[in-house]
Amino acid sequence: MEICTKCGNPKIVIRRKQSGQALCQDCFVESIQKKAIKTIKKEKLLEKGDKVLVALSGGKDSVTLLDILDTFRQRNIIDLCAVTVDEGIGGYRQDGVAIAINHAKRLGIEHKVVSFEESYGITLDEIMNRPNHRGSCTYCGVFRRWIINRVAREFGASKIATGHNLDDETQAILMNYLEGNIDNLTKIGPITDSKSPLFTPKIKPLREIPEKEIGLYAIARELEVHFAGCPYSQESFRGEIGEIIKNLSKDHPTIMYSTLSGFDKIKKALKKEYKSEFEFERCSICGEPSSNKVCRACTFLEELDKKVIL
Ligand code: SF4
Ligand code: ZN
Repeated sequence: MEICTKCGNPKIVIRRKQSGQALCQDCFVESIQKKAIKTIKKEKLLEKGDKVLVALSGGKDSVTLLDILDTFRQRNIIDLCAVTVDEGIGGYRQDGVAIAINHAKRLGIEHKVVSFEESYGITLDEIMNRPNHRGSCTYCGVFRRWIINRVAREFGASKIATGHNLDDETQAILMNYLEGNIDNLTKIGPITDSKSPLFTPKIKPLREIPEKEIGLYAIARELEVHFAGCPYSQESFRGEIGEIIKNLSKDHPTIMYSTLSGFDKIKKALKKEYKSEFEFERCSICGEPSSNKVCRACTFLEELDKKVIL
């Protein structure tokens, strides 16, 4: 009979193909927390006194992130606050928003829900009904980052934490590599800092943990989580890449780990060789930092005949 490799408990919840480890529920939960803490320490993602804004969608990744960061809050190392962006995706986002509100209330932290509708006068569903749109995820990412950056400044946050997991990171590496988008490639990492003081540094404490282990963690910790997937996710190039990596992982269980660690090793050289030429200025329309006269959010909104509602 197989027993937990750490404590001998016969009730196994996970077998890690990549390491041969088998773990019971308690040892599994502890291993995930330790892994995130190891990333936080190794990459110096948190400093005592940080006020961390969690981008909280209500999905498994952001709820797990909140759960782990809360252990730092309980020890008075950091302060936490949260923001939830409602893109206006009918039949999908409402459930996540309700769950996010519950978690923020439960922990008693500052929380704000901001919609595309109130920020831009248009929902993502409405954009997708327009002819010649650029694809759901292109708008979603740009508009969401714009909102989160603003809320970070409003809350006086010193860091923004996002729930990106190992699958997300390897997808981003492969995607940008295949698209030849070296500038984006140099921005992938555990902490995204920017030259502009208007940007709050973004941290990714879960980037070394596979997506399915985060799902299992949320279940093991009995966290209320929105498990449904976005109806637009399959349409994206990222979705296609995700499928390829998932299929490869079946016979090569370490492939995501090696992609990430290999990338982290070459990143320094890449950054040195490929210095971004961008100088930040303020967007002439909304005032947010931008590498062009008009930021991407305002450019997209102009195409849609809309404007940021300030
Ligand atoms: Fe937005 Fe695309 Fe993610 Fe859906 S899959 S939430 S559209 S980025
Ligand atoms: Zn702008």
